[in-house]
Amino acid sequence: MSMETTAWTQLHSVVNAERERRPFARATLRRIAAFARPHRRRIALFAVLGVLTALLAVATPVLAGRVVDTIVTGGDDGAVVRLALLIALIAVVEAALGILARRLSATLGEGLILDLRTAVFDHVQRMPVAFFTRTRTGALVSRLNNDVIGAQRAFSNTLSGVVSNLVTLVLTLAVMLTLSWQITLLALALLPVFVVPARRMGHRMARMQREAATLNAAMGTRMTERFSAPGATLVKLFGRPEEESREFASRARHVAGIGVRTATAQSVFITALTLVSALALALVYGLGGWFALRGTLDPGAVVALALLLTRMYAPLTALAGARVEVMSALVSFERVFEVLDLVPLVQDRPDARQVPDGPVSLEFDGVRFGYPAADKVSLASLEEVASLDTRGGAEVLHGLSFRVEPGQTVALVGSSGAGKSTVAHLLPRLYDVDAGAVRVGGVDVRDLSARSLRATVGMVTQDGHLFHDSVRANLLLARPAATEDDLWDALLRSRLDALVRSLPDGLDTVVGERGYRLSGGERQRLTIARLLLARQRAVILDEATAHLDNTSEAAVQEALTEALDGRTAVVIAHRLSTVRAADLILVVEDGRIAERGTHEELLAAQGRYAELYRTQFAGDTGELTDVEPAA
Ligand code: ADP
Repeated sequence: MSMETTAWTQLHSVVNAERERRPFARATLRRIAAFARPHRRRIALFAVLGVLTALLAVATPVLAGRVVDTIVTGGDDGAVVRLALLIALIAVVEAALGILARRLSATLGEGLILDLRTAVFDHVQRMPVAFFTRTRTGALVSRLNNDVIGAQRAFSNTLSGVVSNLVTLVLTLAVMLTLSWQITLLALALLPVFVVPARRMGHRMARMQREAATLNAAMGTRMTERFSAPGATLVKLFGRPEEESREFASRARHVAGIGVRTATAQSVFITALTLVSALALALVYGLGGWFALRGTLDPGAVVALALLLTRMYAPLTALAGARVEVMSALVSFERVFEVLDLVPLVQDRPDARQVPDGPVSLEFDGVRFGYPAADKVSLASLEEVASLDTRGGAEVLHGLSFRVEPGQTVALVGSSGAGKSTVAHLLPRLYDVDAGAVRVGGVDVRDLSARSLRATVGMVTQDGHLFHDSVRANLLLARPAATEDDLWDALLRSRLDALVRSLPDGLDTVVGERGYRLSGGERQRLTIARLLLARQRAVILDEATAHLDNTSEAAVQEALTEALDGRTAVVIAHRLSTVRAADLILVVEDGRIAERGTHEELLAAQGRYAELYRTQFAGDTGELTDVEPAA
């Protein structure tokens, strides 16, 4: 078996062994190939460079041998000088080619990073809300950064390692065999010393690589969570900083530990290979010298053989290293593909429709729903648990039916945990129902395109999130094409214009996480302004339970009246004024509609609503100021 085939067989055998343990590796290789396909021209050029470099690498030792022979045979000065000049020229060309090859491999690698990153970002963006509620942001960001880079590094290293080294190996071997087949074969006998540790190391390093990635992600997660403003506040209020530090130190120590183990393993590996090549060199000098003294080998051939041998063992070492790289690459690629493979639970149908024009109705028709089990929406490795809960979530809504006519406002009331927010989540299709149907404008939301649904149904939550960006940018999110006038009009109608005018940079003042701190009421009004800009035909509103001061409350109320005007609305109501103004009140209890009717009808019925009214609304003096006392 030639040395070339040995190297390849080995490379494959390690990959194969890994494949047996992890059956999806073959598919992984195919997918990596798919990512590499757009770059195939560059890869081909890279291979050509590899062959050229290899040719030059073999030429120098042969020329050096000629120099020695010329000296020994007492040849002329000119010949020696010419040979030396040729060697110098080759060195220069080799250097230039080296830089070119490096540039090419960097271009390839960075291109791959770009492709992988954009693919992951694009995919993650499409994941349902359920995914983000379960996933730890730090773990996800680590996928986007560390693993993508890991995959790239391994990819370009493998590429540069395998291509040129294999060619160098074949050529070197061929030339060595023509010089002295006996010495070459003996040197080859030392090969198994390479093969055995390389194979074992490949597995070990792959294992450590996986472990290191997990540990790094765990450490990153801890940091992002503890250093977010809410996390840091929680630690200040309740946490024990010493224990936090200890916990973090323990995670960091694990990362350090695996770093040391990996470095040691690598060093043992490389040292062993260097030692073997040194031993082989001694063999060439000893045996070659013996042949030369007996006149069966030219002195130049001994020198050429020695030089070639050192050049042969270098690619061999690199190839053995490339095996390790391949293993690491597979691990990183698999971690990236794992994220890409998560199928979003909520997706557009190929023939998705638009919401019909005109005022829209909202309808629940016998809706049954339970939140999806963890294993359907997330990855164990992103949640830092060993395995995900496969049990389906308990049913939360048990056959809910109601209809909101175009332009009507329906208020949902009921005790906490009854399922009101769940109803709100199903209308913009944040989740899909298990049975029955949710219809917007008479069309099942599962038949609608996400874009059309988004343009039709708006939602204002209690804690309207603002990105850390200017007021303008936060507003433009709702309508990118909005003009300056549109923005001010929305601010005016949401009773925010005076405030924004008073801000240091007006519309360009940065709000959000670390920006200008808006009060609860102001933040709500900004989300209402967003809603007004988006001009959706239906609105779902989760009224704030938190107490706003009276002026803020009145302003929010006015803004809401503007927002709901002429729109179909579902409001999770906490204020008596909203409930009374609603066209229909639904009392939700334990995932069912317990009662339905207007305020007066329901009070007269003396049922669950009347009870809620007494406990929840009547005790609330702040709420009662703007309504006449109920009967
Ligand atoms: P309400 O808005 O009436 O207070 P919710 O609709 O928020 O009630 O909750 C209804 C039920 O669904 C509760 O038992 C709650 O624990 C459960 N639930 C809410 N959100 C989730 C979620 N993301 N995953 C699993 N269960 C949830």
